[in-house]
Amino acid sequence: MSSVDEPETAPRGPEAAGSSTTAACEVESSDVLILGASFTGLELLYQLRRRPAGRGLRVTLIDRHRQHGYLPLVHERLCGRLEPGESEIHTAAEVDADADASFVQGEIVAVDPVAKEVELACGRRLRGRFLVVALGSALEPPPAIDGREHLLRYKLADEQVVAAQRLAELLGGAAAEGALAPTIVVVGGGISGVELAGELAHLAKVRPSGWIAPKVILVHGGARLMPGFAARVAKRTRRYLESQGVELRLGARLIAAEAGRVRLREGEGEAWVSSDMTFWSGGIRPAPLIAGLDLPRTDGGWLAVGPTLQCYPTPTPSQPDVFAGGDAVRVIGGEGEWPTMQRAIECLWQASVIAQNILTLAAEPPDYPSGVPPLMPHRLRPDFFHGVSLGGRSLVVYGRAMVDVAGVNTWFRRFLMRSYFARYRHD
Ligand SMILES: Cc1cc2nc3c(=O)[nH]c(=O)nc-3n(C[C@H](O)[C@H](O)[C@H](O)COP(=O)(O)OP(=O)(O)OC[C@H]3O[C@@H](n4cnc5c(N)ncnc54)[C@H](O)[C@@H]3O)c2cc1C
Repeated sequence: MSSVDEPETAPRGPEAAGSSTTAACEVESSDVLILGASFTGLELLYQLRRRPAGRGLRVTLIDRHRQHGYLPLVHERLCGRLEPGESEIHTAAEVDADADASFVQGEIVAVDPVAKEVELACGRRLRGRFLVVALGSALEPPPAIDGREHLLRYKLADEQVVAAQRLAELLGGAAAEGALAPTIVVVGGGISGVELAGELAHLAKVRPSGWIAPKVILVHGGARLMPGFAARVAKRTRRYLESQGVELRLGARLIAAEAGRVRLREGEGEAWVSSDMTFWSGGIRPAPLIAGLDLPRTDGGWLAVGPTLQCYPTPTPSQPDVFAGGDAVRVIGGEGEWPTMQRAIECLWQASVIAQNILTLAAEPPDYPSGVPPLMPHRLRPDFFHGVSLGGRSLVVYGRAMVDVAGVNTWFRRFLMRSYFARYRHD
């Protein structure tokens, strides 16, 4: 897989960056400073540019990665069904193609929400009149699992590259040596886990040349797969996975991992199970930097925002220009925390709301002498269609309804990916 990131970039010149860069120690400023350039951050730039008032704003996006592998089809990327090059977006290049926008590659290490200023690991500092935190989540095992460093993560751009390389080495190496099929354990029976397990099992039918098909075990703590989906969807998913040879270990909790094996607790008993490679699909956590931010958070550690997606939605303390969106946030309003989806589509909707609200505020003087104008709230849509790929089978699910349309779903999900990429293209 490609996507090798370059080291942190030196500041671009003031004209190119559209910011007031001068000496290295000075703070570079722009109108909108966006932290994180994945689904939420990149879409925010797009949404600003769609509106006439947003076209003149100087926008800076910061991310540690210059490219982003398309996450909804990451299972196909890892297993070689999709070419790496056709399934990633060149985020930095797309941003830099906009004359008034600038991509900064770097590791954000500190955020000052009062000054609306951030610091990168290389010492570079940047500020915006508007600050938007879109730092997302990490697909990361909890600290309680012993040896969790043995579990493969595959969300962020660099993680996807490493995971794809290791999978190719394992399956290609075993084939070259004429060895037995390696065992791959996937931990987590939610949508990400079932999609990855299904895709790995599908390697028995179609696989890159020189690979051997693995034995696949899916470990899930609950009694049934796909929590949050209707029982009939879970049942069908189980049937499809089992028919493709996936061994299901339901009601099993992963408690430890070592090279070559994982330890499972099932009922009262515990046992080691051989695993040549173990993928973690068991849930996301807030991106690590979020824990250290001086911004309101929920008990679960996510950024708490109001329906307007402001970190401080109330008049006191008044910091109306600080927003957050995407996986990093939970919306608090009315009765409490909203059951938002934490999906890519939700990020796009939220980015549109943030863009609109920034433009409403940008029309006012920065100190708001006549008060902060009313802003648009995000609209709760608790559910949306799910395309669930299960190797050679797949489902389109909406609530209790589901349609089994394997070929169409695969085609349609790729069409969605290409449409998503085309949205940001400047050529
Ligand atoms: C395996 C998997 C499959 C998925 N499949 C689907 C699907 O099929 N459909 C769907 O709708 N959704 C899917 N999702 C969910 C979707 O990918 C997320 O909702 C979406 O990625 C969230 O986007 P975001 O912009 O909020 O944050 P993220 O995508 O998490 O991105 C955050 C960005 O911030 C950057 N960053 C974080 N910390 C720092 C730092 N300190 N310094 C610099 N940069 C930093 C990261 O590099 C990253 O680029 C899937 C998620 C996973 C994990």
